[in-house]
Amino acid sequence: MFRQPKIEYKTIEQMLVMREAGLVLTRALDEAVSAAEVGVSTAHLNDVFEGVLREEGATSNFLGYHGFPASICTSVNDEVVHGIPGPYTLQDGDILSIDGGAVVRGWHSDSARTVIVGTPRPEDVRLSQVTEDAMWHGIAALATARSVGDIGAAIDDYVSSVPGPALGILEDYVGHGIGTQMHQAPDVLNYRSTVRGPKVRAGLCLAIEPMLVQGGLETIVQDDEWTVVTTDGKRASQWEHSVAVHEGGIWVLSAVDGGASRLGALGVTPVLPGG
Ligand code: MG
Ligand code: MG
Repeated sequence: MFRQPKIEYKTIEQMLVMREAGLVLTRALDEAVSAAEVGVSTAHLNDVFEGVLREEGATSNFLGYHGFPASICTSVNDEVVHGIPGPYTLQDGDILSIDGGAVVRGWHSDSARTVIVGTPRPEDVRLSQVTEDAMWHGIAALATARSVGDIGAAIDDYVSSVPGPALGILEDYVGHGIGTQMHQAPDVLNYRSTVRGPKVRAGLCLAIEPMLVQGGLETIVQDDEWTVVTTDGKRASQWEHSVAVHEGGIWVLSAVDGGASRLGALGVTPVLPGG
């Protein structure tokens, strides 16, 4: 029997600081996404993101993480996650995921979005939409989940239910607990598994982050030791939010409205911690 790492359960007050970190992050991602246009370098997006963190007095949890050299990950086309911002300039039709985090008074947030630059390919629009919807189904499932495994089951069931060409759910990378560190126990699988995972209870804060691909699930890490690409060169999308569970319900910490605009359609009304 392996010893499971201990889960850090948060108080309402701690969740509200995490929400502050989530709101700074939301603004920084908004600005980075707005700046993502044809001809713009991914390094510029990192500068834009860092500018917002500086203005807000927040710090980056990505910069220096195991030596990571930037404050966001920019993953383009067949890059799935952990792409490093640099001189690459965005091209018409690129599908780009931007993953970032912010720390406020020691509490972390983590969120990612996918954008399509210039003229989108319909299959890429579908990939990003299904990935985002899968994330919201996973978040909605958390509201009534008995165990963390229910999240992956909901994501998996949703993705399988989508008509048209099948999309794959990456298994090499998963969501995680979040709090005084960016990556904490427990793992949050994005697929149905016989592992049920720990029980869901008040104080649990999770980053839910499905990654979907148009082709096979196999990935490799490039020579920069960070960028994860699909082995078959097919395109990928990632969406992520940080979410809190408390006595009154759930709240998406990295969304201004706590997720209300998307969760309503899934039968969930988010409640602000302590509200
Ligand atoms: Mg992330
Ligand atoms: Mg994450």
